[in-house]
Amino acid sequence: MTISEKQQKLLRMIPGVDRILALVDTDPDMEAIPRNVLTRSVRKVIDQTREKIFKNDDKVTEKHITIDQILKQVHDQVQKSVSPKLVPLVNATGIVVHTNLGRSILSADALDNLLKINSRYSNLEFDLEKGTRGSRYAVVEDILCEISGAQAAMVVNNNASAVLLCLDTLARQMEVVVSRGELVEIGGSFRIPDVMAKSGAVLKEVGTTNRTHPRDYENAVSEKTALFLKVHTSNYSIVGFTAQVSLSQLVGLGKPHGIAVMEDLGSGTFIDFSRFGLEKEPTVQESVATGADIVTFSGDKLLGGPQAGIIVGKKALIDKIKKNPLNRALRIDKMTLAALESTMRLYRQPEKAIHEIPTLNMILMPLSQVHEKALRLLKLLENIKKPELSVHLLDLISKAGGGSLPSLQIPSKGIGVKINTMTINAVERFMRNNSPPVIGRIEDDLFIMDLRTVQVDELEIIETAFKTLLNKG
Ligand SMILES: *Cc1c(COP(=O)(O)O)cnc(C)c1O
Repeated sequence: MTISEKQQKLLRMIPGVDRILALVDTDPDMEAIPRNVLTRSVRKVIDQTREKIFKNDDKVTEKHITIDQILKQVHDQVQKSVSPKLVPLVNATGIVVHTNLGRSILSADALDNLLKINSRYSNLEFDLEKGTRGSRYAVVEDILCEISGAQAAMVVNNNASAVLLCLDTLARQMEVVVSRGELVEIGGSFRIPDVMAKSGAVLKEVGTTNRTHPRDYENAVSEKTALFLKVHTSNYSIVGFTAQVSLSQLVGLGKPHGIAVMEDLGSGTFIDFSRFGLEKEPTVQESVATGADIVTFSGDKLLGGPQAGIIVGKKALIDKIKKNPLNRALRIDKMTLAALESTMRLYRQPEKAIHEIPTLNMILMPLSQVHEKALRLLKLLENIKKPELSVHLLDLISKAGGGSLPSLQIPSKGIGVKINTMTINAVERFMRNNSPPVIGRIEDDLFIMDLRTVQVDELEIIETAFKTLLNKG
């Protein structure tokens, strides 16, 4: 690559690391910053400047390479390095189980227990009655069986590992029959066929995308068949000319051949949402009662707990799964166990679970309550009294998210904001870079915040952010 004379001149203007560092050392703001952070920041700024020049970015001119400009960039870079990367934020998207935003907020009970168990030693793998080594799975097995009605239970790192572990244990070098309509990909590139390939199980697809019949499973059975797998198509629905084989039909088909039936519920819930007028999502209890031999689901989707993969089912199969050496690589940690145990205990009283578990609480929150929050925010923003700010109360649709309740539309209320002196993209960017960030969306040239997923104590954060933005301009 040849570079022009102009580029060469610009490159020569960049000061050396030592020169910049010497100047940084005279800045009292930088006194407490570790040496290594300063050096890395200076190098980074130099690299970025060089890169811009090499890219022949016309925006780079001599006045961007003055020592003052470079020092300012180093200052910003140092601030960025010393600030935490993982930060809490305000979810104003209306998507309750938002995978990019951490899926589920933990209940107060779960948080208390997380702190309590992890600030001291615990009996994580120690049987206090016998005084011998115990099993970490025992912490939640009993409560999971009690709530789900299953004979046995087991937990791993997440549901993707739960599926992998079950297939590896029960179907290695054997065939697993799945409907073509259920070969799902969910966000973050979890694809059922790929997981199956990793597990060493052989996928046997049956039926067509929109229609699968009991005879399709029947015809696929051979001496190599280990499992019938049903996958809850949690992030989309097939509508129109469709036919699916129900779990109960699958259980009936498997029985005479001695073929076990596994169901990947994806989200998994213990609460029947249809009781509250929402769309029906199969519950874990129903799958167990229908006769599934193995059911897997996530801990942090509709369950509203920590990230985990939960496996419930027949004791003989769970015992085998517990003995799989792969298990050791997928094992659940004590922070998760502490939070999961507390979350599960709340399900003993479903009313309490709905009240205490934020995920459930937000999905089932009556519209009137969301409306009330929206009115409060409306008032806070109107009181800023800036002529360039216009604020609107809106009817919105929230989503359960997290690959659950795919077509579920929850009526919601929100606020749409427009600032006449600014583009809507600039408003969105400012809110996203606020501390703490406020994540909404742009629609119809408005910055829209859905109040279903905004907590009451976050209304003031939004108010303050807008005040700062308006006073800046
Ligand atoms: C979400 C989901 C998974 C993966 O669960 P994680 O807990 O995210 O690993 C697997 N299968 C289905 C059907 C899902 O919806």
